[in-house]
Amino acid sequence: MMSFQKIHKLTKRDFLKYTSGILSTAILPYPYQLALAKEHWDVIIIGGGTAGLPAAIFAAKKGLKVLVIEKASVIGGTLFLSTGQIAGAGTVFQQQKGIMDSPDQHYDDIMRINGNTSDPDLTRIVAENAGTTINWLAANGYKVFDHHPVTKIAHDPFKVERYIQGPMGGISILNAIKPIVDQEITKGNITVLLETNAVDLMQSKNGDITGVITHNKEGRLMDYKGHKVILASGGCASNPDLYEELHNVPLYCQMAYPNSQGIGLILGQSVGGYLRGGEKYSPLYGMILTDDKIPSTMYGLTKNIIERLPWEILVNSKGKRFVQEDHESVDAIEHTIMQQPAHRHWAILDQNMIDEMPQLIYGWPNKRIMTESKKQNMIKQYGSIRELAIKSELPALSLESTVQEYNNNLENNRDDTLGRQYRPLPIEKPPFYSIRMSGWSLCSFAGLAINKDFEVIKPSGEPINNLYAIGEVIGFGATSGNAYVNGMGVTPALTYGKLLGESI
Ligand SMILES: Cc1cc2nc3c(=O)[nH]c(=O)nc-3n(C[C@H](O)[C@H](O)[C@H](O)COP(=O)(O)OP(=O)(O)OC[C@H]3O[C@@H](n4cnc5c(N)ncnc54)[C@H](O)[C@@H]3O)c2cc1C
Repeated sequence: MMSFQKIHKLTKRDFLKYTSGILSTAILPYPYQLALAKEHWDVIIIGGGTAGLPAAIFAAKKGLKVLVIEKASVIGGTLFLSTGQIAGAGTVFQQQKGIMDSPDQHYDDIMRINGNTSDPDLTRIVAENAGTTINWLAANGYKVFDHHPVTKIAHDPFKVERYIQGPMGGISILNAIKPIVDQEITKGNITVLLETNAVDLMQSKNGDITGVITHNKEGRLMDYKGHKVILASGGCASNPDLYEELHNVPLYCQMAYPNSQGIGLILGQSVGGYLRGGEKYSPLYGMILTDDKIPSTMYGLTKNIIERLPWEILVNSKGKRFVQEDHESVDAIEHTIMQQPAHRHWAILDQNMIDEMPQLIYGWPNKRIMTESKKQNMIKQYGSIRELAIKSELPALSLESTVQEYNNNLENNRDDTLGRQYRPLPIEKPPFYSIRMSGWSLCSFAGLAINKDFEVIKPSGEPINNLYAIGEVIGFGATSGNAYVNGMGVTPALTYGKLLGESI
C-alpha cells in the first residue's frame, strides 16, 4: 500500500481537470436540483470515489439511471492520495511477462499473509474478480511501472509477481476511469452532484431504503428518491473521535482523504446495519510524527524490512529490544509494535551507521538525520548512550545495557539474543542517535457488515432491502484482515464496485 517514493505531485491544474464535464450543484441552478429531486433514480451512490465510480459506470452501462452524490468538488476520493497499488491474478501485465498465476493462488497468498483473518467469502470474490477488473482498467489506458508486476512493496510478499502500481499512483487508476464516467454523463446515464453532502437515508415503514437526504452547498436539505442506494463514502480514518471509538486505538497520524469521516458507517448503522472489524486494527511500521498531537502528521517515514535490511536496533520505552529487527515478516514486526505502549519504537544507531548504511528514511539522505536531530523533537543525538537515553526520555541504564549486550554478542561472535542474523556494525562510534517512531494507520479496519451480494446486513444476517455498501465503508479488516495485504484496499473497492454495478 505505501511505498512513498514520490510518484506524483497534484497541481491545481490537475485538480481542475477532474472537475471538468461534471454537473455540479455549484453550477446547477436550484430549480435544476429540484428537478433532479423529483426524479426516481434506479441507483443512488453516496460517494464518487474508488468504489463508487466503477459501480456508477457498470450500472449505467446496463441502462440504469444513476445519481452520484459527492461531498467534494471533484470525483475521485481517496484515489487522489492513494499510492494505488493493486493486485490481481491473470492480468495482462502478468501475461506480458509470462507470469503464471491463478485466483486460487491469489486467495491463498492473501489468507497466508493475514493468517486467515479477512472475511473468506469477500476475499474469495476479490481473488476471483480482481484480474478482470485490472484488465478492464488496462483496456481503458491504465499503465503500470515497466518492472511491474512485483511480489511486494513495503508489505509481506506474495509468492507470485502480481502487485502493480501506476506511475501516478491512485491517479493512474482515476485517469482510466474518469473519461468513462464523463461519457456516461454526456449520454445522460450518470448524474453527479458535487459539493453535496449525504446526511441521512430515507426508509419506508417496513424498513426498505427509499432514498437519500442531502445537504447542498447553499445549505438546503434535498431528498433524492432511489430504488437502490449504495454506500461508497469511504472509511473513517479522517475522523479521530470515531476512529478511536471503533478501534480502541488513537488515530496517531492523519493521512486519509479528508472526507473519510465515516458517514456511511453511521448511516448504515442508523437503519439497522452493524459494524465489525475494529479489533483487526494493526499498526504500520516506522512513522516519524511531527509532534505529539493526536492526530499528528507525517514528518518522515522509515523503511521497513521489506525495503531495507536494518543496521540500527529497535527499542521500546523501557530501553529494551523487543523484536528481531531483521524478521522476514514486516507484519510480524508490526504486530509486536502493537504491544508497545502508544505503539512507540525507537531506532538506535551510531555515526558509522549514518555514514555507511543504505537510506533509512524515505526521501532523506542519511546525513539529514544529523541536522534534523538539532531541530526535530523525535530525533536526538548525543555523545554517549546514557545521555542519549536521557534526552530521548528512555531509561538510561537499561538502554546502555541493551546496547552493550548487542555489541558484546556481535564482537564475540555470539548469537544475537533475539535471533537477529543481519548485524553489519556494532553501535560504538559517537555521536549516537535515536529516532522515535510510532505505529500508525491510514485505513479504517471497522466497517459495515455486508453479505456476498454487498447488501448491508442486520445482526440477524438478514439484508436491509435496497441498501448496499462497498469500499472502505465495509472495513479494511473485512478484505485485508489484521494485516496490510498488498492492494487489499483499492483492489476490493474497484472490484466490488464493478461487480455491484453489473449485478444491481
Ligand atoms: C495515502 C493512502 C495510500 C493508500 N494506498 C493504498 C494502496 O496503495 N493500495 C491499497 O490497496 N489501498 C491503499 N489505500 C487504501 C485505499 O486507497 C482505500 O481503502 C480506498 O481507496 C477507499 O475507497 P472508497 O471508495 O471506499 O473511498 P474513497 O475513494 O475515499 O471514496 C469515498 C467518496 O465518498 C465521498 N463522501 C464521503 N462522505 C460523503 C458524504 N457525506 N456525502 C457524499 N459523498 C461523501 C468522498 O468525498 C469520496 O469521494 C491507501 C489509503 C491512503 C489514505
